[in-house]
Amino acid sequence: MSHWAAAPLNRHQVTLFAPTLDDTIDGDHPVRLFDELIRAIDFSSWELMYVQVAGQPPIHPRAMASCILYGLSLGMRSSRKLEDACGNRLDFLWLMQGRKPDHATICGFRTDFEPQLKDLFRRVGRVGIEMGLVTLNQVTLDGTSTRANNSRYNTARRSSLEQKLAALDEQIEQRMKEFGEQDRREDELYGVETSPAKLPRSLADLNRRQAELKKAMVNLAQREAARQGRKDVSAKGVSVPLSDAESRVLPNKDGGNAPNYTSVLAVDADSGLIVDTQVLGSNDEPSTVLPAVANIEENFGDKPAAMMIDSGFHSGPNLLGLEQQDVEALIPARQQFRENPALREDPSQPVAQEDLCRLPVSPQLKVLDKAAFVFDRAKDRYHCPMGRVLERVEDRKYNRDGNKGVYKIYACASCAGCPLASKCLPKKAMVRRICRDEYEDARERAAARLSSEEGRARYRRRSSVAETPFAVLKTTMNLRQFLLRGLSKVRQELCWAATAYNLVKLMRFKAAAAPA
Ligand code: SF4
Repeated sequence: MSHWAAAPLNRHQVTLFAPTLDDTIDGDHPVRLFDELIRAIDFSSWELMYVQVAGQPPIHPRAMASCILYGLSLGMRSSRKLEDACGNRLDFLWLMQGRKPDHATICGFRTDFEPQLKDLFRRVGRVGIEMGLVTLNQVTLDGTSTRANNSRYNTARRSSLEQKLAALDEQIEQRMKEFGEQDRREDELYGVETSPAKLPRSLADLNRRQAELKKAMVNLAQREAARQGRKDVSAKGVSVPLSDAESRVLPNKDGGNAPNYTSVLAVDADSGLIVDTQVLGSNDEPSTVLPAVANIEENFGDKPAAMMIDSGFHSGPNLLGLEQQDVEALIPARQQFRENPALREDPSQPVAQEDLCRLPVSPQLKVLDKAAFVFDRAKDRYHCPMGRVLERVEDRKYNRDGNKGVYKIYACASCAGCPLASKCLPKKAMVRRICRDEYEDARERAAARLSSEEGRARYRRRSSVAETPFAVLKTTMNLRQFLLRGLSKVRQELCWAATAYNLVKLMRFKAAAAPA
């Protein structure tokens, strides 16, 4: 008897597989549940996009979508790998019933049906609602950087971009002269006759590179205009990606800077299903909060009852905008002071001597924070930690990145002789002034919600709910870098991944609910 285990299959065995394709797939194989779910979804809007023409009949969009989504659920994103799987893997053969789309067809299908893909995402979410899983009671929103399909070294600043463009212009001019000379010689030799109006291949390539650089130049000009007048930006100037001009050079979690997009997901806390996806060509994550509410309402006919979001999304317009839409905002301020002795029963009295050292200090300004001043709404004035009054002295207009409004300024009548002056007064100021804009009431209400035990308990769920989909997308589906280029295409790429994620979640719920 051999020491080694015998191979279970004989290469010359006459019958190897089960007599039917269906018999080769076990009854409890996940692909069966996947197929059941995808068959319950209506694809008529996709069918309308196909025009009957001569040639091979097209593969049904349900089969194509199944191939992409099932592949994503297994971390298979490359169209070539999917093509290979359709020909060789039994689960794909069963799912596709032997259809074998080539990689170009799969690649085109991924980006040719943008509105239909959004509709598919919506329909999958609605299955979650019908199953009683998605409640929209609490929705989280979070963002992460996802690498663009652009090498971190293929970026340029203004000087290098101008040099590259000038060199390319010179090359194109040189080639044009050479082709003109060649045409003249050929005309002399063969006579003038019409020829196909097609650019020579080398010139077409130069023109394509020139168009890419020009696009990068436009992007650069826009970024420079947006940074004009700002002191908190690098003096080195803006660096722009050259292969994917719509991405943005942003800091990477693994160090350094690289072209990235910002992927933002809204997740229903009760089911863990993704209810909205957004991709930004910048890192302006706070700008996604109100659009997320609008998208969820459009997709599912209802607004979330509460939004749980981290402090990076905290802004006055977001807090007020959510309140105006009757959505409870659970968003902590960037700077939180847990124990604040300034919040005392009678703010007209000074803070106790032993508590003065615990008053909140602004980390940026290095003086007492606004949180150390108590607002008296009835009398429209502040009380400082020494119990003195800061009356409203002036209203001033502001314009922050196009967001216009008016803020009120409150000033202490006299800070002379105050023992806290060195901690409270900014350099060269004789009296302390406090500003209050139209969003301050909303900020205070949001802070009060999160200071309660109930608010804190609800908010504690946020991180696991919000971050789980990103972990799955990055590790299981390998979505650490987009394969496609351009904002519209990467949005579709994320939407495909989110739809696959939701389908896998629904499969798990179905499997758990099935009788043992
Ligand atoms: S410096 Fe002025 S505002 Fe600040 S604590 Fe003293 S009196 Fe109040």
